[in-house]
Amino acid sequence: MLRLPQFQVATPTTLAEAVDLLQRNSPGARLISGGTDILPNLKHFLDQPGLLVSLARVAELRRIDRDDRAGRLVLGAGLTLAEIAQHPDVRAYFPSLAKSAGLVAAPTIRNMATLGGNINLDTRCRYVNQTELWRGGIGGGCLKSEGQVCHVVPTGRRCVAAMSSDNVPVLISLGATIHLHGPAGQRALPLADYFHADGLRHTHAAPGEITAAISVPLPTSPRRCDYIKWSVRQSIDFPLVSVALRFDLDADRSDAAITDVSVVAGVLGAKPREVNKLDELVVGRSFADPSVAQIVSEAAYSQCKPLPNVPYDPAYRREMIRVLTRRAIAAMV
Ligand SMILES: Cc1cc2nc3c(=O)[nH]c(=O)nc-3n(C[C@H](O)[C@H](O)[C@H](O)COP(=O)(O)OP(=O)(O)OC[C@H]3O[C@@H](n4cnc5c(N)ncnc54)[C@H](O)[C@@H]3O)c2cc1C
Ligand code: SF4
Repeated sequence: MLRLPQFQVATPTTLAEAVDLLQRNSPGARLISGGTDILPNLKHFLDQPGLLVSLARVAELRRIDRDDRAGRLVLGAGLTLAEIAQHPDVRAYFPSLAKSAGLVAAPTIRNMATLGGNINLDTRCRYVNQTELWRGGIGGGCLKSEGQVCHVVPTGRRCVAAMSSDNVPVLISLGATIHLHGPAGQRALPLADYFHADGLRHTHAAPGEITAAISVPLPTSPRRCDYIKWSVRQSIDFPLVSVALRFDLDADRSDAAITDVSVVAGVLGAKPREVNKLDELVVGRSFADPSVAQIVSEAAYSQCKPLPNVPYDPAYRREMIRVLTRRAIAAMV
């Protein structure tokens, strides 16, 4: 049995109180929401915070509002993934998000796991998400734990552990905005800009900043969207590669011409990968044109290069991106 390190727990009831607790107990305080990511990491002694600031009683994080004037759905960071997967507005407007939330782990975990925790899920790597004893056996850890070297890219100086959230690629593909509360007040930025390519610190959250909500623009034209998750088992498994797809279509044209496209891959490095130049390749084509699936899947394959940071052969995972993207688009036509 793995034991937890010793820590205190604080249970604020407002965001302002939570921000204050984080600030006053810096740098030894961490946030905990559902605890389904941070508690296993603490059991592996990847961190030893003196204080966990629980967001479980912060009611303002549990809102879900459809703002028709602003044309957005606002999802509080404290909603559970089960609630998101089942919510009628999420299912109606953002079926790819309902799907990705419903594919996380297993029902028991989805009943605890929150959206905020999923966005801020720590990066994962086969060399670090292990017990302390295991890590000691490979020469004393790595850059992200107790060591000085990266076992994935031994010549590199940066950790390339993988961003393994199921929902982040989907939310980026849907053009989501993240709303943050911190010591300097509130700010919002495109979710795509929240991440950067460093597995040790892969978000741009400032010290003491809390994810309060995610807002997603409501679709204004016909849309096809989907989420592909490849993992070994169909349950209780993190994705080993993932792809989120969104195609907006011209409502006035009988051939359903593509007006906008977004394809975002996960589990490559610490930052989700947005596939480039798809606008030039497929905007204006009919979504029913069989070449669209071919073009998009080849672009995803050529731009996405998995690393040996999570289990399974990177070349095989790369091939899965191509095959599953092509099949998913063909199935949406
Ligand atoms: C067996 C198992 C299988 C899993 N499978 C998957 C999977 O398939 N897909 C997947 O995406 N995840 C998976 N997970 C990981 C985890 O369950 C989810 O990512 C979950 O959504 C994390 O949410 P949480 O509320 O439990 O986060 P917590 O564990 O409470 O927190 C996670 C991290 O986010 C920070 N945090 C929490 N809330 C906030 C906030 N509001 N603002 C800023 N930072 C915050 C915490 O400090 C911590 O660093 C799995 C976990 C387990 C144990
Ligand atoms: S990518 Fe390298 S530094 Fe990062 S966790 Fe894995 S082995 Fe460690």
